[in-house]
Parts: sequence; C-alpha cells; structure tokens
Amino acid sequence: MTSLVALCRSGYEAVLVDEITHRLAELNVSGYGQFSKASAWVLFHILDTNVDVTACLKSLIFCRQIWWKHCEISLENKQDRVSDVVYQLRETPLPQKIFKDIIVEHPDTEDGKTLAKFARKFTVPLRQALRNIEVLAKRDKANRTNSSLPQHHLHLLMLNFDTALLGESIPSASKIESGGITRLKFPPNAPSRSTLKLEDAVNTMLTLSEQQRIFYSGANAVDLGACPGGWTYQLVQRGMHVEAIDNGKIDESLMATGQVQHFNADGFTYTPAYGHVTLLVCDMIEKPDRVTELMIKWLANGWADHAIFNLKLPMKQRFDTVQRCLDILRQSLREKRERSFRIAAKHLYHDRDEVTVVVIAK
Ligand code: SAM
Repeated sequence: MTSLVALCRSGYEAVLVDEITHRLAELNVSGYGQFSKASAWVLFHILDTNVDVTACLKSLIFCRQIWWKHCEISLENKQDRVSDVVYQLRETPLPQKIFKDIIVEHPDTEDGKTLAKFARKFTVPLRQALRNIEVLAKRDKANRTNSSLPQHHLHLLMLNFDTALLGESIPSASKIESGGITRLKFPPNAPSRSTLKLEDAVNTMLTLSEQQRIFYSGANAVDLGACPGGWTYQLVQRGMHVEAIDNGKIDESLMATGQVQHFNADGFTYTPAYGHVTLLVCDMIEKPDRVTELMIKWLANGWADHAIFNLKLPMKQRFDTVQRCLDILRQSLREKRERSFRIAAKHLYHDRDEVTVVVIAK
C-alpha cells in the first residue's frame, strides 16, 4: 500500500476523496481516503501499487497540493525539532536519496495558520541540517544550472507543533509553493476582490503561449456578470476592449479607460455587440448547468474563441455536479464544433464555493 497526502480548501476533504477515488477507479485502482472534517487535508491509501497513477493526479480539480507520504514524525524535542526530523529520515529508507529542497507546509485552516510563522522559520535550520547529512543537494552555482541534479522535493506537513508528515513530491503533480497556494497581491485600483480569481486562473491555468494568444492589445472580450468590475479590470490591464454585461454599477475608473462598454442587459440573452470576441468570461451566480449551457452556446456559435468561467457549487454532490457539467461541455463542443478545445477545471485558492473552468481553442 502507498499513501498520498493531499491538501484542499477547508470543508472540501470529502469532495477531494470522491475525486481521487473516481480518478483511480478509471484506472481500475482502488483505495480509500481518511480525513477529519474541515482539516483541509486528506490521506489517501492506494491498494494497488502496480499501476502508475501519477498522470491522473496532475489534473485533480479539488486538490491544491499532493505528494507521496513516507512517514509520520513525532516532534517530541521542543528545543530541537530539527533533530527529530533528521533522526526519522535516517530511519526511513527513501527511494530517492538526494532531494532538491524541502517544503514545509501546514493545513490552510485557522489552527493551521498558527503554524505558518513557525513553519517559515523552521525551514531554514531544517534545510541546512538536511544539506549537512546530504539528504538535500548542496546549493551552488553548478546545482542551479545542471538539470541532471535532483528535481524531487521533500515535503513536511506540520499537523500541529508535535506531529508532522514527511514525504516526497510527485513529478509535475506537486507544487513547489508551500500548500500549493499561489499568493497574489491585491491590485490597488481593482474594484473587487474577485479580481484575484481571474488573475489566479490566468496565471495558473493557462500556459504562457495561451496567454499570449488570448491577451493582446486590441483584442475583444465579453464579461457576463461584470459588476463592480474585478474581472473586467484584469482584461483591461491586459489591453483588451471589454463589453461588460450587468444590471449593476460598474467602477468609474474602468469606464474612464475608454476600453469598456457597459450594457445593462441579461447575461443569458446578450449576444456580442460586434458578432465575435476572443474571450468570454462569466462570473454570474447561477446554477452550474445553466452556466454550462450558456458557455456551450457562445463557443458552439463561434461568438467567442475561448472562455473562462466559474461554476458555483451546490451544497451537496459537488464533485458529481462539476463532473457532469464538464462531461456535457466536452461532449457538446465535440459534436458542435470542428475545432478542438483544451478544457480544464480547478478549485483555485481564490475560489470559494465555486470552481474555475477554462476552455481554450487549440
Ligand atoms: N466578476 C465580478 C467582479 O470581479 O467584480 C463579480 C461578479 S458578482 C459575483 C456576480 C454579478 O453577476 C453581479 O454583479 C450580478 O448583478 C450579476 N448577474 C447575475 N445574474 C445576471 C444576469 N442574468 N445577467 C447579468 N448579470 C447578472
């Protein structure tokens, strides 16, 4: 049996276990999850170890961070927790002998936040001690440029001040940011905090070449449910001209850019003023199936080339709902358009009870 440690938004532990179970079942692999409610992390035990499951772990929607668990460490020595980790590492045969670095993490909960400062400070002496015993690669100029040197990281999840889990990264599935969280600075002139949801989506869900293809000076976009304008702000910052659709009030400084047209209209019946846009974005609070149908209509009619939108999650059956909407989206676009699309969904750090979906024309 092998075990995974996976981090998520607090309250989404059962949803994440559902998702991992479902993905592994597609590979005929069975396993089970263990978690405490609102702990923001789960342990998932895989029963069949002969199948390579790493590819399916890359695209998990409700997972922020994931890695292989090796052992639990009791941090009994309050004056010298580093020695506890070093001792345990010597006792545990690790498949990968030398690692690139260690990432110290904590669950994203109120309790977990009390560990944040400690985790940051603890990383420094721990890293040094692990370099001294050659568990971590020495940091020098050659190491930074030589790609044949180790790429795997060690991960230490502090559960509290006394206990931690230790493990190692899964190539291309684990994140190097602690907790898998991309921290973003709130832009000073943005009209709402929602702006960070779209910035997060662009930075983490689109490749650089997709970003260059979609966001260029003079490109057009439609923002359905735009007010007060946090998403429109992101599009304007990237040089786009935006049709902002909402009966609410839009931020005046956005209007002053001359790049925004505000239409007091219903997002479900609006059609693009000039027949076509490069990008459709949508953050309307509506039933996920209704939003999915609307996105299909825009993409299938060729009104928009690409779409980024949020699906607001119901209280129950969250994974099933997202899965159903994505299946409908994939199937409908396959039937209705000759063009193929890359479709991905993610429960981003800045998303609350919603997931972000990107549909990018190839
Ligand atoms: N993305 C916005 C931002 O960053 O500032 C926030 C959008 S807010 C979550 C949802 C918006 O959708 C509200 O302003 C609401 O008026 C609008 N909305 C809801 N239903 C709508 C509809 N049928 N047509 C147009 N706008 C709608």
